[in-house]
Amino acid sequence: MLIKLPLCNWPKCPCYPRYVYYDAKIDEWLRFPTGETKEVIHENMTTIYVMLACMSQNCRVRNIRNQATVELLHPIWNDLRKEIPL
Ligand SMILES: [Zn+2]
Repeated sequence: MLIKLPLCNWPKCPCYPRYVYYDAKIDEWLRFPTGETKEVIHENMTTIYVMLACMSQNCRVRNIRNQATVELLHPIWNDLRKEIPL
């Protein structure tokens, strides 16, 4: 039986501030890479993955859903996808 989730009320859902926060953070991490950068990224990967998963499946805005779906195709998520299948 499929459980129909309520659509995420973008931009009033928790994904939105999270996305804005990580969007800037990822830029910063990539622009000023330090020895800790890899570790910090690794620590935040699951949160970002789950956020993108919610966006790609539940977001009421089609563009956001599509964008998140495309971002989830990146091979960077392959390991997490095995742990947390969508
Ligand atoms: Zn959401």
